[in-house]
Amino acid sequence: MLRVKATGADVRIVYSPLDCLKIAQENPEQEVVFFAVGFETTVPATAMTIYQAHQKNLTNFSMLVSHVLVPPAMEAILSSAQCRVQGFLAAGHVCTVMGYEEYEPIASKYQVPIVVTGFEPTDILQGIYLCVQQLEKNEARIENQYSRSVSKEGNKNAQQLIKKIFEIDDRYWRGIAKIAQSGLKIKEKYIQFDAQKKFNSELLITYTSESEDCISGEILQGIKKPHQCPAFGTKCTPENPLGTPMVSSEGACAAYYHYRQV
Ligand code: SF4
Repeated sequence: MLRVKATGADVRIVYSPLDCLKIAQENPEQEVVFFAVGFETTVPATAMTIYQAHQKNLTNFSMLVSHVLVPPAMEAILSSAQCRVQGFLAAGHVCTVMGYEEYEPIASKYQVPIVVTGFEPTDILQGIYLCVQQLEKNEARIENQYSRSVSKEGNKNAQQLIKKIFEIDDRYWRGIAKIAQSGLKIKEKYIQFDAQKKFNSELLITYTSESEDCISGEILQGIKKPHQCPAFGTKCTPENPLGTPMVSSEGACAAYYHYRQV
């Protein structure tokens, strides 16, 4: 997006997707498109924005939606024959919205411990500790390290809003493949806010090409470590990421890049 901005496009960073509604109302001659990415964490705000855009009858606002769901991706990784992942720290922000009931069958089916974990350094340490304890005891169950924010059932109001606006759909994941029922798309009732449909443009296709150098699929499955990727720290850096694990600071490749011992 920053590269497009550098060529003169009007690309803005907003604090909340709801800010886009104000921009659209103040610029009726402009088409305003919000790029909605993220796991279940960011979906409630996206859903509320579409809901309000519908109520305001906005005609110059739409969204390019690329929301994905955690449990189907975990299952895709765990069902791979090469998978070496022995335990998961489930993201606390996702579970704050969704709860952790949907992880129980995964822990049981694949016999992996899943520890819902917060984001402070001490949260991560405790999450790892609880996960290792389970492995040593040969247990495989859900544990909630982040109980100050996460309940078993999650935020029901947020879940209802998500269901009102979105429906589950297949989604292509970079580094893995298409995973059935792993993403969200806007429901027919709100389809006028779907930028993909509205502009019907190849520019908006969400299936991007992947770098041939990127081995993020193997990283995600625990088969290889980031520093074993030939592009790590050379062609691929946080400033110029070739794959998703290098994009955000919580990605495995970015974490290795920032905290590796020289
Ligand atoms: S270092 Fe970059 S190119 Fe290599 S696996 Fe990670 S994201 Fe992909």
